[in-house]
Amino acid sequence: MAAAAEPIWWYEHDFFVGIRQGLQVRLLYTERSPYQKIEVYEHALLGRILVLDDILQTTQADEFVYHEMLAQVPLLGQREAPVSVLIIGGGDGGVLREVLRHAWVQRVVMVEIDERVVRVAAEYLGINGNYDDPRVELRFEDGSAYVRSAAARAQPFDAVIIDATDPILGPGEALFSRQFFADVRACLAPAGVMVRHLGNPAYQREIFRTGVRWVHEVFGSVQVYRAAIPTYLGGDMAFVLSTNDGHSCQEPRLALRGRYYNHAVHRAAFVLPTWWQEVMEEAQA
Ligand code: SAM
Repeated sequence: MAAAAEPIWWYEHDFFVGIRQGLQVRLLYTERSPYQKIEVYEHALLGRILVLDDILQTTQADEFVYHEMLAQVPLLGQREAPVSVLIIGGGDGGVLREVLRHAWVQRVVMVEIDERVVRVAAEYLGINGNYDDPRVELRFEDGSAYVRSAAARAQPFDAVIIDATDPILGPGEALFSRQFFADVRACLAPAGVMVRHLGNPAYQREIFRTGVRWVHEVFGSVQVYRAAIPTYLGGDMAFVLSTNDGHSCQEPRLALRGRYYNHAVHRAAFVLPTWWQEVMEEAQA
């Protein structure tokens, strides 16, 4: 679809709390895949923007914050180098780029339900890792079905990184349930680590509380860390992490200097506001 000539005002659908995000953008591309509406916009400051079913996913300007923090904290927080990594979702390719930085990663399976997101994001945003890297197996299927069968395949993963659309509509709903977390745990190696984002607790407190509760119920322990991503309204985004054997990921094993991530940021990310701690205590009661 041809690009719009003049900038338009685009509004993300609200966060169900009467708050909207408006951006003055130019529409570059739109299509409807079998799973969702895919749009790419351009913003003077944020660069190119991927939008799925009217929800902003990522922007060229600050995608590195989210992708470095989602991937590097679990990978570098592990006591041993994770060798096999499963990415669920991640269609813009940013998490894959972060995982492939490390030579000690020998196998990456990326399970993304929508091939069109991968192709459109690669063409218009160009933030993806190398899909042709011999370590990468790219599968276009539902991540919830994959993890359910992965346990039976007995190919445990050292790390599972869930990079899904918001769990409030569309295909991403299947990646946010107690059963899904249980299936993820079943395909982890004995000291494996799982991570996903839980959105922004200030606006999406129930998602935060529910995610913490389910992870605690399934894994027996839960670790939360945070990062502020300018594109996402509402302050810090929460990430929930847990390990199969309950060990902590708060001490980075190696030093890495990313565009956002570094040793000190890794540690500091686990320092949480009191109200987050209180929500977490309620969720684990
Ligand atoms: N990195 C961005 C962010 O900040 O959240 C966006 C993540 S990425 C674009 C979300 C991906 O999850 C999309 O490509 C979407 O197609 C994929 N996805 C949603 N439901 C899925 C499912 N059930 N199985 C596999 N992938 C799924």
